[in-house]
Amino acid sequence: MEEEEGPEFGKPDFVLLDQAALPFLLLWLLFEKGRIYTYIGEVVVSVNPYRKLPLYGPEMIAKYQGRELYERPPHLYAVADAAHKAMKRRAKDTCIVISGESGAGKTEASKHIMQYIAAITNPSQRAEVERVKDVLLKSTCVLEAFGNAHTNRNHNSSRFGKYMDINFDFKGDPTGGHIHSYLLEKSRVLKQHSGERNFHSFYQLLRGAKDGQLQDLNLQRDPALYTFTQQGAGLSSSDSDEANYQAVIQAMKVIGFSSDEMDCVHRILAAILHLGNIQFVETESGLEVAEERLVDHVARLTATPRDLVMRSLLSRTVASGGRELIEKDHSAPEARYARDACAKAIYERLFGWIVGRINEVMEARGRDPRRDGKDTVIGVLDIYGFEIFPDNSFEQFCINYCNEKLQQLFIQLILKQEQEEYQREGITWQNIEYFNNSAIVELVERPHRGVLAILDEACASVGTVTDRLFLQSLDTHHRHHPHYTSRQLCPTDKTMEFGRDFRIKHYAGDVTAVVLYLSNAVTPQYTSSCCRDPKPKSYFVCSGTYSTDLTLRSMWPDGQQDITEVTKRPLTAGTLFKNSMVALVENLAAKEPYYVRCIKPNEEKSPGHLDEERCRHQVAYLGLLENVRVRRAGFASRQPYPRFLLRYKMTCEYTWPNHLLGSDKSAVGALLEQHGLKDDVAFGHNKLFIRSPRTLVTLEQSRARL
Ligand code: ATP
Ligand code: MG
Repeated sequence: MEEEEGPEFGKPDFVLLDQAALPFLLLWLLFEKGRIYTYIGEVVVSVNPYRKLPLYGPEMIAKYQGRELYERPPHLYAVADAAHKAMKRRAKDTCIVISGESGAGKTEASKHIMQYIAAITNPSQRAEVERVKDVLLKSTCVLEAFGNAHTNRNHNSSRFGKYMDINFDFKGDPTGGHIHSYLLEKSRVLKQHSGERNFHSFYQLLRGAKDGQLQDLNLQRDPALYTFTQQGAGLSSSDSDEANYQAVIQAMKVIGFSSDEMDCVHRILAAILHLGNIQFVETESGLEVAEERLVDHVARLTATPRDLVMRSLLSRTVASGGRELIEKDHSAPEARYARDACAKAIYERLFGWIVGRINEVMEARGRDPRRDGKDTVIGVLDIYGFEIFPDNSFEQFCINYCNEKLQQLFIQLILKQEQEEYQREGITWQNIEYFNNSAIVELVERPHRGVLAILDEACASVGTVTDRLFLQSLDTHHRHHPHYTSRQLCPTDKTMEFGRDFRIKHYAGDVTAVVLYLSNAVTPQYTSSCCRDPKPKSYFVCSGTYSTDLTLRSMWPDGQQDITEVTKRPLTAGTLFKNSMVALVENLAAKEPYYVRCIKPNEEKSPGHLDEERCRHQVAYLGLLENVRVRRAGFASRQPYPRFLLRYKMTCEYTWPNHLLGSDKSAVGALLEQHGLKDDVAFGHNKLFIRSPRTLVTLEQSRARL
């Protein structure tokens, strides 16, 4: 076999990892050879090298283009090519699911995949396709500015989940795309863990904007002057904020944001920073804003009447009995809650609007009529991994639930279906035990009794039902569940109250997935974080409806709702998230999946250290061991007989141009006999099962020689 030797590669290997060899193999891959990719079957395992390796770029892309998966050393490019080929040759919708914990290299992997796809498509340089490719590539830069942040685990951590569909025409060239974003961690706008920053966008604006622009926004350059950016002021992102500010502006221009729209984005960021600095003082005549000029700034920047901004901070409108509306003054904690809720809601709307604008621009044009208007699609999923902090909020609960759902899909697609297929095809097979996490998924999403349903109940009546009752209800239903526990907590300095927490034992390990303190907070901490935006009418400033700025108004397409309607149980953030997860899983399940499992070698972001314990843990919870056992016991590839013949019949005199051997199965047998490959396969009822990837390579090479 012809091999590409290079300092960066070494010999191509098709190692199917096993339990004992794994840590050592990874060690070897990482330190000795700088080889960070390997395969388990068709699953790519990637280890973050935390250093630049000469594995990417045009030359390397050329080596993978059009090759079969196993023809070259393991690489993301090979998987991107396989997904593209499946889409082009067989008109199959495919998806690439990238998973791993924070800092494992998911977003970097997704960028390499996109760059590969952009590089191998549109050889005829059609202008419209080039435009779509530009938007696809530039969208990443913009979304990272607004959705990523410096965290302790990753200096450029994605704080939202992203699924991107790329549409292709019959030539295999991109014609459009669509991004779904999932659960932006909007609480970060208000506060960050020690050593972490707010979203990059704030620092980029403060450090990158010209003096004149900052003056227009009533801002000063130093992030330490603003409550929301104060804590992270001393930390930098991996690249310079100034340079990134320019890069984001450039990217937004390429995508097609108008200068008015970009102005509006900056005004919103500035308004949020001013909002964060607003403090309240109790006076004899009631609650007042300490520095009224900040309210002026917010009003001017959001083009909202000043009086409305003030009223929305100091009071709220509530429906009292029937349709009668009354204005109720805020206490100081309520005013602070209103201020923070507005800041979060505005940022979330801004982010959603940016995603929406990118989608408008990427809307597939010029669909191919020969496909009944249906393009073929490659989906790329880059979504947050399990998150386990000392103090876990509703956001971690959702993120971990998402990972359980994806793990369930992985189990179903890779493990269960594989075993079932062997059985269906009559191939001798020894059943392999694997961990089935459906009990955990059920615990969270079961109708009426699952954690989300109980949380919804509590949300429906925030104010009367508290976190305490939510916990009691959880205990009543799940006390005996093997994946659920709860504890009584001692009072802390902060809460001065007895509290309880609940714990979910996740697939990733025994995790206090959610810690909940009952506190003296103005609103129950946990249940309120599950409720959606504050009700529009009660917080005027949160609603663009009252702004005269058209861009800002378009961020609230739901417009002005009748408050009596709004009080009728809007969908909670929990339910919305669950629905989006169910839709995501259905979408992925309908496509041919390719998996990239990313492993983070150490906590220190060091290129020179591989923490064996951490790696073992990740390998276990990514389901790789079960995956390895199934693949080792099984076959690397399988194909229906007619498809196999279509591809390889020209390599054998008995099958070219047509065979006279009765069944396709016997023709395939004759072909393999002639190549001396018969010992490496098993014949199913309808499909051929090939044990070693080398067999495929040999066949591809004989085809190429013709
Ligand atoms: P999160 O879930 O926090 O978003 P992630 O899995 O998306 O994490 P990345 O942002 O992709 O992680 O990677 C973290 C950092 O690791 C990158 O900023 C980069 O410095 C380094 N890194 C990741 N992959 C590679 C690679 N293939 N080559 C070199 N460095 C890499
Ligand atoms: Mg990321």
